[in-house]
Amino acid sequence: MPEVRVRFAPSPTGFLHIGSARTALFNWLFARHEGGKFFLRIEDTDKERSKKEFLDEILDSLTWLGLHWDEKLVFQSQRTEYYRTKANELVKKGLAYAEGEAIRFRMPKTGKVFFDDLLHGRIEFDLDQHTSLAEDLVIFKSDGSPTYNFAVVCDDADMKMTHIIRGDDHISNTPKQVPLYEALGFKQPIFCHIPLILGEDRSRMSKRHGATSIREYRDAGFLPEALINYLSLLGWSPGNNQEIIDRKELIEKFNLKRVLKTGAVFNKEKLEWLNGQYIRKLSVPALTDLLIPVLEKRGWWDAKGDRVWLERVVALCQERTFCLGQFPELTEFLFVDEIKYNDEALQEFLKDGRLKDAFAKYSDALGALGTFDTKTVEERSRAFMKEIGMSGKEFIHPCRVALTGRSVSPGFFDTVSLIGKKRAVQRLRHTADVLLKK
Ligand code: GLU
Repeated sequence: MPEVRVRFAPSPTGFLHIGSARTALFNWLFARHEGGKFFLRIEDTDKERSKKEFLDEILDSLTWLGLHWDEKLVFQSQRTEYYRTKANELVKKGLAYAEGEAIRFRMPKTGKVFFDDLLHGRIEFDLDQHTSLAEDLVIFKSDGSPTYNFAVVCDDADMKMTHIIRGDDHISNTPKQVPLYEALGFKQPIFCHIPLILGEDRSRMSKRHGATSIREYRDAGFLPEALINYLSLLGWSPGNNQEIIDRKELIEKFNLKRVLKTGAVFNKEKLEWLNGQYIRKLSVPALTDLLIPVLEKRGWWDAKGDRVWLERVVALCQERTFCLGQFPELTEFLFVDEIKYNDEALQEFLKDGRLKDAFAKYSDALGALGTFDTKTVEERSRAFMKEIGMSGKEFIHPCRVALTGRSVSPGFFDTVSLIGKKRAVQRLRHTADVLLKK
């Protein structure tokens, strides 16, 4: 079998869409599995809509996802001469003709156009029934730029693509491309049209369904490895129910024959769950490195911070973090002086009349401690509860609310220790004096 050569061909007219990223991924996986080449071609013939900022973002997102392309980028905007030569050849052969400044290709008028799709099998178009297909195809516009259907055929042939893996929204374009291959004397590649990504309501995934660009997922704190894993399972399966499957294993197992024919529904909860799994796999220092920029953005962290303390926080919250962007919300009470109290938690847990006095005394007890590590805090706190005659159940839940503002937090004694003596003392005092008037 000749070397596999595939391409991803984005138009730089918007940010990298999650569906396009999945198309890029399937091409990349196929190339890597087959030991072939993966090309990146920028389809920037539309000068009005193509923007440098989108190009940069697409390259950035692909790099971030680890979908590295082989060889130099190809820009369609730099290949107009080549398309022009090919168009002139068709005109010379009588297969195309000028119409003003534009050039039209003579489409076959009767019979069938067909191609064999790796997923869908033979797809046929009866030209008698598809009158729009039989219309002569504009291959060069009057503004001097080639049309998509023409440039794509010229390039795919010139770049010796063996397989065209793209979204099935292009199935309707393929019967326009097939006669062009023939007229230009090019060998047809193997087509494989993969199903689109759908929203929960089964319509094409769009902004209505949530974030659609890779950039938004990156900004929210999803990990590239988790996105790769998730996207690979959108429309493909390794043949069992395996859900966590890393890049190396994907390359080993990826097979176009296992791509599903029908659209795959995007499920944000599943992506979040998967991301959480990848976050758990990270070492604490590695996760800390990823979280620092997130904390810096909030103004909660700078180079003077105590890294050892931060790693303790990260270790404590790692299990509960499903995406980096959610970490500040989980841990806010550890980074700010003034915490927000959850009203329901206050009402539910601060009813006991003994608490006002207990918090004041506990504040003093903690304030008197020389060291504030988890072990010391735990020992002193347990002794304190005995002294005042309250059980852990009666005391710890209200205390958690007083110290964190909410009813759930990681392990209580670790939490107290990480909050630190000064803030813990202040918060208990505040709760006793202000929140528990009476
Ligand atoms: N530029 C086209 C797109 O972004 C490429 C289609 C193709 O792969 O042929 O949809």
